[in-house]
Amino acid sequence: MYDQNNIFAKILRGEIPAKKVYEDEYALAFHDISAKASVHVLVIPKGPYISFSDFVEKADDVTGFYKAVEETIKLLDLKQGFRLISNSGINGGQEVPHFHIHILGGEKLGPMISK
Ligand code: AMP
Repeated sequence: MYDQNNIFAKILRGEIPAKKVYEDEYALAFHDISAKASVHVLVIPKGPYISFSDFVEKADDVTGFYKAVEETIKLLDLKQGFRLISNSGINGGQEVPHFHIHILGGEKLGPMISK
């Protein structure tokens, strides 16, 4: 079940601050508090979805969210490229149980996976 008290739910409700990059009716994008690259932004849907699969199964408008991800990428000016990651569940290393996409870039990134 979706945890209404997860940190991203609190950001969506305005209870804790975030460094906003982009917002529309579908999504909010903000800088990761612990950046793993010179650009590290998170994009979250506004609805209560736990993970990628939960979002795709339940959301009425999946496309609206992904268009918001693309708008965010344009604003970040990542012409040299970028990486999108969505961690899911225990094996995926997901820490915050509200679906999110990591946008990483601004420099040449390292190997895709390290154990
Ligand atoms: P994940 O492991 O995919 O669930 O990623 C969660 C991400 O949320 C991590 O990269 C954290 O650094 C980031 N994070 C946690 N709390 C905050 C916060 N208050 N503001 C911005 N990013 C956060």
